[in-house]
Amino acid sequence: MGQKIKSWVEEHIASLEAELHHREREIAILKKISDAVTHNVGLDKIFQMVAEHARDLINAETLLIPVLDENKESYTYRAGCGKNANEIIGESLPLEFGVCGWVWANKKPWWSGVIETLSAEEKIRWKEEAGTVILVPMVGQNSFLGGIAGIKKEDGTEFNERDLNLLSLFAQQISNAIENVTSYEQLTQAKEEAIKYQVELQKLNSQLIDTNKELEHLALYDTLTALPNRTLIQDRIQQGLLNAQRDKEALSVLIIDLDSFKEVNDTLGHDTGDELLKQVGNRFQHSLRHVDTVGRLGGDEFAVIVSNADTDEAVLVANNLLKVLDEPFIVNESNFHISASVGIASYPEHGEDVSTLIKRADVAMYVAKRARCGYFVYDLNEDPNSLGRLTLMGELRKAIDEDSMELYYQPKLDLESGKIVGVEALARWTIPEKGMIPPDFFVPVMEQTGLIKPFTKWALNKAIGQCVAWQKENIDITMSVNLSVYNLRDPEFLHVTSELLKKWKPKPGSIILEITESAIMTDDDFTRNVLSNLSKEGVHFSIDDFGTGYSSLVHLKQLQPSEIKIDKSFVMDMNTNKDDAVIVRSTIDLGHNLGLKVVAEGVETQEVMDSLKELGCEMIQGYHISRPLPVNEITEFLKKSNKTQH
Ligand code: C2E
Ligand code: CA
Ligand code: CA
Repeated sequence: MGQKIKSWVEEHIASLEAELHHREREIAILKKISDAVTHNVGLDKIFQMVAEHARDLINAETLLIPVLDENKESYTYRAGCGKNANEIIGESLPLEFGVCGWVWANKKPWWSGVIETLSAEEKIRWKEEAGTVILVPMVGQNSFLGGIAGIKKEDGTEFNERDLNLLSLFAQQISNAIENVTSYEQLTQAKEEAIKYQVELQKLNSQLIDTNKELEHLALYDTLTALPNRTLIQDRIQQGLLNAQRDKEALSVLIIDLDSFKEVNDTLGHDTGDELLKQVGNRFQHSLRHVDTVGRLGGDEFAVIVSNADTDEAVLVANNLLKVLDEPFIVNESNFHISASVGIASYPEHGEDVSTLIKRADVAMYVAKRARCGYFVYDLNEDPNSLGRLTLMGELRKAIDEDSMELYYQPKLDLESGKIVGVEALARWTIPEKGMIPPDFFVPVMEQTGLIKPFTKWALNKAIGQCVAWQKENIDITMSVNLSVYNLRDPEFLHVTSELLKKWKPKPGSIILEITESAIMTDDDFTRNVLSNLSKEGVHFSIDDFGTGYSSLVHLKQLQPSEIKIDKSFVMDMNTNKDDAVIVRSTIDLGHNLGLKVVAEGVETQEVMDSLKELGCEMIQGYHISRPLPVNEITEFLKKSNKTQH
């Protein structure tokens, strides 16, 4: 091998070695960069590493990394090293400005070699930068990132093609890495923002849940007692019904209405009433199993849902509910006794859906209230809403409007004189195909529908008119007319009655209004006012069905009735039933002690009549004297009995 060849080979090897050396450094820096990327070092640090390595690579006095800004309208020197670099880092310039602008526009590197390719005009413009500046673009797979710019070679020479190649290669290799970091950074930032957003969202969400809970509570719970309200009760029944259907079990709904609660409210104020309701709700709740629900439907009405319970079990629950009311309630240091009426309806026996069960429990509750029996299990025959009764109501309305009802009259005998001193008017209603409908059946229907108002007006008009007609015939007797408790609560009743009195002008004391004992139990200022006004117009009062309620003497006295009527249920069997005899005797004594006359109704035999006479009872009524008779028959009867004494 010749010397020339040898030296060429050596030279070549040396250059290869140098190349290799460069390669190794490049690999090292790339590794460093990729490490930096994986370790999530910030992008600016990576740019700085790139700058330092690139400066080594091309022996530049200064090395800068211009990076395209996000707005794509400007670029910023994000990193750099060497002379004056620190003053330049952070500077932003418009995109079209300087060598950078040229590189962005032409998408190719700038170095001394490009000067040859420029137009004459451009040559003059870029002459100065031509040899002192080298700028290769960093182009990623997706976008233009920026560039690597070297300014002045340390040895004073110009940047040559080799520098260009080295830098281009390097730029190409790191561009991808950097692009990855960028997207990684953006990703992390997005992720961080997403996390922040999520936290915010969670906070908002929990606030929303709280508000919702509050709203839900307001919507589903009664504010006074904090018990479930009607809506929630309906919902729970619905839920209970689904379970009951699935498990083939029964379910019972109880509706509880407090007795004479209105009286408490009216006389002692709403605060006392409210406190009482709270305490009642509390007692109810504690008397139940925790699986059962008690709620307040409104006013003094509560509801209880008893799961897995047929009517028998519901009755036990009803008894428990009534029992917890036995103990007096203490409000503002005063004792209160409160009783209630409970209606029971059960699935599947009485209904299969929420509204039917509630409606029927409600109907049962009204029956319990009327009968004063504490609780009542729904019975189809008692339901005024069943179809039969609906048509009945229509016909009743017609009968009142068309005056096709009748009043029968039952005589009232004075035991001492043996004379008929009065009659009681009793309503009779005959439907052509069905015959006579008993008042015990249709009066409650009218009471529950408001028909009782026009009906009572009709009865009063007819009875007072008849009484006056007899007076004109010298048949001077009293006329008793039955009132319903609903009449006493009717604000128009007083006016309607006074008008009728003005119209007929009966003798004072000849009209007696019969009020049942139960009506008096619920009396209030309003009722008292109605009665005292009528009494000023010469009307007398009678306490009807006495013995079936629990009226207090105080109430009785205040009303100043002229008589009490012992209920026929005690009178009829008084000679065979000792208990009845005791009740009749003590009632007569009680009446006399209060200065009242006593009337016994339901006298069916001479024996009973004799016993009553012995006990000092003033008057009697009953089949033994006469059944209630239509007007022409009673008129005959009265005319005859005026002559013959009983
Ligand atoms: P009441 O006020 O207790 O009327 C007495 C009831 O006993 C009447 O039944 C009468 O026919 C019946 N009765 C009379 N004597 C005897 C007897 O010796 N033995 C038996 N077993 N019963 C006797 P009635 O006429 O069926 O009336 C039933 C109820 O309907 C009345 O009970 C009253 O509460 C109500 N009622 C009747 N007419 C009217 C009315 O015009 N207005 C109102 N609000 N209620 C009325
Ligand atoms: Ca009566
Ligand atoms: Ca009676």
